[in-house]
Amino acid sequence: MVHSENRESENIESKKIESVAPSLQLFLDDLHCKYKSLGDGAVANYIPELSKVNPDLFSICVATVDGEVYQVGDFNPLFTIQSISKVFAYGLALEDCGRDYVLTRIGVEPTGDAFNAIILDEQSKRPYNPMVNAGAIATTSLIKGKNATERLNRLLDMYRRYIGRDVFVDISVFTSERSTGHRNRAMAHLMLNFGMIDGHIEEALDLYFQQCAVMVNCRDLAVMAAALANKGVNPVTGEQAVDSRYIKDILSVMYTCGMYNFAGEWAYKIGIPAKSGVSGGIIAVVPGKMGIAVFSPLLDSRGNSVRGVKVCEELSQKFGLHMFDCAGGSLNLTKNGFN
Ligand code: GLU
Repeated sequence: MVHSENRESENIESKKIESVAPSLQLFLDDLHCKYKSLGDGAVANYIPELSKVNPDLFSICVATVDGEVYQVGDFNPLFTIQSISKVFAYGLALEDCGRDYVLTRIGVEPTGDAFNAIILDEQSKRPYNPMVNAGAIATTSLIKGKNATERLNRLLDMYRRYIGRDVFVDISVFTSERSTGHRNRAMAHLMLNFGMIDGHIEEALDLYFQQCAVMVNCRDLAVMAAALANKGVNPVTGEQAVDSRYIKDILSVMYTCGMYNFAGEWAYKIGIPAKSGVSGGIIAVVPGKMGIAVFSPLLDSRGNSVRGVKVCEELSQKFGLHMFDCAGGSLNLTKNGFN
């Protein structure tokens, strides 16, 4: 009896997702159509190699915790993950060193400053959070391995678990950033001065630049975000990408610090843990439901993809995804349901 009741409720759930899925795909198609002519913003050029990107590229992907992927636009072209990598490297550092130790090195306070500000918390001397560059460099320096090669391989293997295929570092972007990334070098030295990072600065910076120069596409990002929505399990391959104990830490810093100095307004208006990168990607994680990814390299003055912000805002409104939206009432936590 209990068994048949469960089956019945499973059937209701699957009907629900079938009825939602086509409307989700149509909605993504409409959003793509609506915003593809929006030409506001500019591509990042402070890393010279990034300025060569085609500014018209635009894609939207949603991966559900059931492993379904909805996609529209240029979802195949590869680009470097940049700052979105900070989310995943933070997870690996937490696994390697534990929450308590990581907290002694990197805080969890939003800064309200630009991602590349050369600042540390005045009292603790820690970088403010792992989503700004200083904190991300300190995070990457915590990744374990007996030498640089092993650390890079562990990082690449982490990406493989999240994405479901092997990834590689774009050497041109890596060397471009390595030869021009003097602000990041300055931050690393400041942290060395205060003992927030250990001796091998150039090695830590190289690993950070490599982590940022890993090539992904929009679909990959959606699946990575969906793994965070799915207790750390890649919903397409079923592989555990990160220990589920650390999901709440990762999502908390994404929520409060993930969107550069737009993080507060993003939390207020869109209300989903998210992270953007200067190559034009944005990921957003709806816990227990889905990962959203948008790629469009035209950035606003804070470094967020212009079309990406618009698309996420509309998705959040349409499906009632804001974490604290109880008036709309659509934060439905039943299995498979996201409507
Ligand atoms: N690699 C870039 C940097 O450190 C990442 C910045 C970003 O995407 O926000 O400047």
